Amino acid sequence: MKIPDSYQPPPQLLADRVILVTGAGDGIGRAVSLAFAAHGATVVLLGRTVAKLEQVYDRIKQAGGAEPAIYPMDLEGAVADDYADLAGRIDGQLGRLDGLLHNAAQLGALTAIEHYDPVTWLRVIQVNLNAPFMLTRACLPLLKRAADASVLFTSSGVGRRGRAYWGAYAVSKFGLEGLTQILADELEENSSVRVNSINPGAVRTAMRAAAYPAENRAALPTPEEIVLPYLYLMGPDSREVRGQALDAQ
Ligand code: NDP
Repeated sequence: MKIPDSYQPPPQLLADRVILVTGAGDGIGRAVSLAFAAHGATVVLLGRTVAKLEQVYDRIKQAGGAEPAIYPMDLEGAVADDYADLAGRIDGQLGRLDGLLHNAAQLGALTAIEHYDPVTWLRVIQVNLNAPFMLTRACLPLLKRAADASVLFTSSGVGRRGRAYWGAYAVSKFGLEGLTQILADELEENSSVRVNSINPGAVRTAMRAAAYPAENRAALPTPEEIVLPYLYLMGPDSREVRGQALDAQ
C-alpha cells in the first residue's frame, strides 16, 4: 500500500504535536525530523551521537521551528527503566506525545545464517526489535492520552520477504511487521492510537551504502525526497489507516 499520490501536507499539519523520532541524527531519521518540525511539530530527537542530534537541533531552530528536545540514548544498552524515564521526562517537560517514529536500526552482518556471529545477531535484534518494543510499551500510556496518535515502525523489503544473507536485520524487520499487526489489533477497538509500518525503499544513506557498496548512489532518492509518506502517516489525514504495511516509494 502507498499513500495517495496527490497528497499535499498543509504547512501546519503537525502543529501542537509532540513527536519522538529514534535515530534522528542521520539519514532518513534526520530528514524526517526536519520535515516534522517544518510542519509545526515539537520533535524529540533521540539518538546515540549527540553532535549529530545537535546539528539537527540547530537546523530546526534556524528554520524557525518549535524548540526540539535532544534525548541521547544508545538503544543497544538501554533497559526497561531507561524507557520509563524517557516517557516520564516527555510527560513532565512536554506534557504529551502524539507520535512515535521507530527509525533507528543497525544493518549487522550480511552473511549466511550458518556463519552469522551470535553476538552480532543479539545486538541487531536488541537495537532493531527489542528496543522498539520497550520504547512503545513505555510510551503507550502517553500516546493513549493524545486525541490522535500515530506509531510508525520502519520496516524493509527484506522484512516482508526473506532473502539470503540478510540475517538478523531481516528477522528484526519481520518482527516489527508482527509487532505492528499485533499492536494495531490490540488498539483497534479501544484507543485512537494507530500503528503502521513503512518500508522506505532504497534511499541514499550510510546504511544503504554499507549494504550496497558498488551501487551508483547518485541514482537513489535522498532522504529529503521521501519524507511525504512520513508526514502523511504522522498527521491527522491518515487517521483511518491502521495496521498497514506501507511503502514510501
Ligand atoms: P542510517 O544508518 O543512515 O541511520 C540510522 C540511525 O540510527 C542513525 O542516526 C544511528 O545513529 C541510529 N542508531 C543506530 N544504532 C543506534 C543505537 N544503538 N542507538 C541509538 N540510535 C542508533 O540508516 P537509514 O537512515 O538508511 O535507515 C533508517 C531506517 O530505514 C532504518 O530502520 C533502516 O533499517 C530503514 N531502511 C533504510 C533503507 C535505505 O535504503 N536507506 C531501506 C530500507 C529500510 P548514529 O548516527 O549515531 O550512528
